[in-house]
This record gives sequence, C-alpha cells and structure tokens, in this order.
Amino acid sequence: MTERRAGVEKLGIMGGTFDPIHNGHLFVAEEARGAAGLDRVLFVPSGTPPHKRYAGMADAEARYDMVRLAVQGNPYFDVSRIETDRRGRSYTLDTLQEMSALYSNSRIYFITGDDAVLDMLNWHEPYAIARMATLLTVGRPGYARDKISELPQEIRGSVRTIDSPQLDLSSTDIRRRVRAGRSIRYMVPEDVRRYIDDNGLYTDSDGELH
Ligand code: ATP
Ligand code: MG
Repeated sequence: MTERRAGVEKLGIMGGTFDPIHNGHLFVAEEARGAAGLDRVLFVPSGTPPHKRYAGMADAEARYDMVRLAVQGNPYFDVSRIETDRRGRSYTLDTLQEMSALYSNSRIYFITGDDAVLDMLNWHEPYAIARMATLLTVGRPGYARDKISELPQEIRGSVRTIDSPQLDLSSTDIRRRVRAGRSIRYMVPEDVRRYIDDNGLYTDSDGELH
C-alpha cells in the first residue's frame, strides 16, 4: 500500500502539550509512520497558553527542549517551533494551514491518540481540520475505539485507525510520579528524564490534567 507519487511527501504532524513528552507519544508517532508510510513526523509542542492550564505546567521552551531531546535519535522525527513562537492561543487548524503552506508538496497527516480524536468536536474548527488532513489515530487504554463511528461522517471519513499495542502512559501520571519522588525511568527517554531532574520540573505543583 505504498502509493507514493513522485515528489509528494507524506508528512505526519504530532501535536501535543508534551508536558513532558513520554514514550507513549514516541511510540504512537512511530506506529503511525509505519502504518501510513509517512516520510517524516514533525512534533509540534504547544506554546504558552494565555493562562496556565494547571499549576506547575512547564513553560513552552522547556517542553520544546524535551521534545527536541526525545526525537533526536530518530532520523524520521523532527520538532517544530511553530507553536512555541506563536503569540497567544494556538489552534491545530492554524498549524496545519501553516504547515501545508510551508510544505506545499506534502500531504498532511495529523497523528493523535483515540482520546484526542474522540474529543474532536470540542476542538476549534474540527470539520476544517478533517478536510485538511488525514487523521491517524492510535489506541489509548481507557478510550473506546468503537465510539469513533459516532462522529459525524465528515470527520469520520478522514479518520484512519491504526492497530497497535497500547501503552498506558500519560504526562499527568508522569508529573504526579515526579512530585511523589517516584522513578520515571523507562517511561520517558533518558535524556528527558535527566532534563526534568536537572531543571527540577514538576516537583512543587499539584498539576492535574487528563
Ligand atoms: P496529559 O496527561 O498532560 O494530557 P498526555 O499524555 O495526554 O498528557 P498530550 O500532550 O495531552 O499527552 O497528548 C498529545 C497527543 O498524544 C494526543 O493526541 C494524545 O491522544 C496522544 N497520546 C498521549 N499519550 C498517549 C498514549 N499513551 N497512547 C496513545 N496516544 C497518546
Ligand atoms: Mg492529554
């Protein structure tokens, strides 16, 4: 199923807060890349929101740095500053539009976990997003994949579900573990673990988010 037209690159975009990036994110992106034959995957950490969404949220530069460290060993992965540098609130649609202008020779694939795709009607302009990109979604423990069929056809039509093992990792849980003094080794790349440690991230907050 490797329909690759000459000159047309298949570009995966993996958006997230990445607070911090963990092995679940990396695995999801790698599985999506393999299943859809993507030429590369750009990770796009969100910028600084006007109001921190919870106490102890790491700033945009720290989250960007951790993503950079996490992707550096994979030749297919890269990180973008597009949302890090944007003033004010970032919308996925704006990012996808900028990406498709920047990489006009690419087909855009937006990579998510099932929790995100199931929440899509709450996003800004979900129908426009579905028209712009194929949505590649990977299973996440606790989220019912069969509910995707209840999304409106205009959205469902661009969703492609990917079968892969599921990893029960979340940034929320990782932040909690750090706060509790528990190890996060093997849940995040070693360079990320060291960055969190060196910078004392997530030690004194009560950040709760899912
Ligand atoms: P938080 O707990 O802070 O919400 P998170 O682990 O959900 O963090 P996000 O940055 O919110 O990470 O998610 C970015 C993207 O990665 C979303 O599309 C989300 O669905 C996906 N994702 C994160 N963790 C997993 C996982 N373990 N399995 C599948 N998808 C995941
Ligand atoms: Mg999340």
